[in-house]
Amino acid sequence: MKRIYRSWIVIVLVLAAYQSAFAQGNKPNVVILATGGTIAGAAASGTQSAYKSGAVTIDAMVAAVSGISDLANIKGEQISNVGSQDMSFDIMLKLAKRINELATQPDVAGIVITHGTDTMEETAYFLNLTAKTDKPVVMVGSMRPSTAVSADGPLNLYNAVAVAADPNAKGRGVLVVMNDWIHGAHSLTKTSTTDVQTFMSPLRGLVGVAAYGKNDFYNNPQWKHTTSSEFDVSGVSKMPRVDIIFGCADMSPDLIDASVNNGAKGIVIAGVGNGNMNEASVKAAANAVKKGVVVVRSSRVATGLVGRNVEIKDDDLGFIASDELNPQKSRILLSLALLKSHTPEQIQQMFRTY
Ligand code: ASP
Repeated sequence: MKRIYRSWIVIVLVLAAYQSAFAQGNKPNVVILATGGTIAGAAASGTQSAYKSGAVTIDAMVAAVSGISDLANIKGEQISNVGSQDMSFDIMLKLAKRINELATQPDVAGIVITHGTDTMEETAYFLNLTAKTDKPVVMVGSMRPSTAVSADGPLNLYNAVAVAADPNAKGRGVLVVMNDWIHGAHSLTKTSTTDVQTFMSPLRGLVGVAAYGKNDFYNNPQWKHTTSSEFDVSGVSKMPRVDIIFGCADMSPDLIDASVNNGAKGIVIAGVGNGNMNEASVKAAANAVKKGVVVVRSSRVATGLVGRNVEIKDDDLGFIASDELNPQKSRILLSLALLKSHTPEQIQQMFRTY
């Protein structure tokens, strides 16, 4: 009994020391969860294009941003250190769970996640549906490595911390701050392989702008997210496999068969135009549905909606139309949806809601 009592005292003292180290002065407390990416990348010189993603630690990144500690008390945690081409559902689950732990702490005002830009939209959308908080959760990355002449990471990180510390950012879902723009997780997409101005929100526009720590919010994401999302990954350790198959002229239907044979529970077709595919692929996709695989029609086209029953008879074939979601975000939603349902009507409703 005495030993239990003593352990409790030790725990309370450690927690008290942790709190006072974090909360200094009247500044808000912001936790940065680092995952890697070009923002943590390093090259041999300031002007060479070849570099290694995820080479710099979060502490070194924060130390390189002058004035950032005037915005907030900052604590960094390294969740992973990978280029986001290696981002996985396992890391996304780890992030969602850690965010949900941190968000319950009353002294945490907001959370920033540093991430590569290649798959930033996928993790942002995953967290938008699985983070159970209205506190600001802000993702940030960069297009140039930390060693580049005119690196964009430091100002992006500064702006992201300013948004995470801003009470006006609350309740807007997961945000992405890049190149002075504040995007919502549902609408943003990467549009350039190398330009600093790569992220756009073509269908819904920006949530706001961020400039040297001053934020202007003028839009609220319309879709359900975070605290109004039905998805809960607290007990989930593995996400269902969902494949994306890219549509083109003379598309090979056997790619759909291969996906089914390799254990996919869902398939997203990045179709041509309004989510279309050739007749042979429609047949293969209909066969997949008969075997219990859920098929979503999205589009390889950069903007626009994919509607039901336009050129393909979704009602007869049991397909789902992706509405506003591009193939990579459709895959995220379908994988989460499959944790709850395999019924096309129910999953279609989710695509209208999230
Ligand atoms: N390949 C890098 C990544 O996604 C690119 C970047 O971060 O901009 O990690």
